Amino acid sequence: MARYTGPVCKLCRREGDKLFLKGERCASGKCAFERRETPPGQHGRNRRFKRSEYGLQLREKQKIKRIYGLQEKQFRNFYEKAVHQKGITGQLFLTMLESRLDNIVYRLGFAPSRRTARMLVCHRHVVVNDRIVDIPSYRLMPGDTIKIRERSRKMSLIHDAMKRVKEGKLVPYVQLDKARLEGVFINYPTREAIPIRANEQMVVELYSK
Ligand code: SF4
Repeated sequence: MARYTGPVCKLCRREGDKLFLKGERCASGKCAFERRETPPGQHGRNRRFKRSEYGLQLREKQKIKRIYGLQEKQFRNFYEKAVHQKGITGQLFLTMLESRLDNIVYRLGFAPSRRTARMLVCHRHVVVNDRIVDIPSYRLMPGDTIKIRERSRKMSLIHDAMKRVKEGKLVPYVQLDKARLEGVFINYPTREAIPIRANEQMVVELYSK
């Protein structure tokens, strides 16, 4: 499947917020957004215009889509599924995105970014309920266990990522056993528990036009 392969820091500058796409670098002084917040491009610095309602909704949609590293079609499919469920569409939509396997591998700290988590899943390093799952979009159910495959446990990438994990600081809907490189997806997250600064309601407004 096609995916964005260009410079990712540009995406943060475009959306005017830190999207945390590069792992360790995002928390360091090397973060491109902290050094230069203006939108990318020759005229980015001089752009001063008031966004239309549509423009604001579009930017919010792009922001969430880029945080989770999805293409438009995949992203829209999640929305369509959320529309057909009972509840607040925007919140259901975010909950579904958060329950993706690549996202939970990232939330558990096995990978420094969602991109790397996606790579770990695709390369068959991740086991869900004792079976290898190589589909990043696989949707987890409460109680599912996620662990690193036995023969992949020596990978320095995973060990480096785990060194930075503080067990008490993980999102409340996962539980981690750091020594065993094993975690549990406890429950579907509420909106308040999802640490993402974005207005999902605007995405709903955009797509329901
Ligand atoms: Fe965004 Fe991270 Fe790059 Fe900073 S380092 S601009 S947060 S991807």
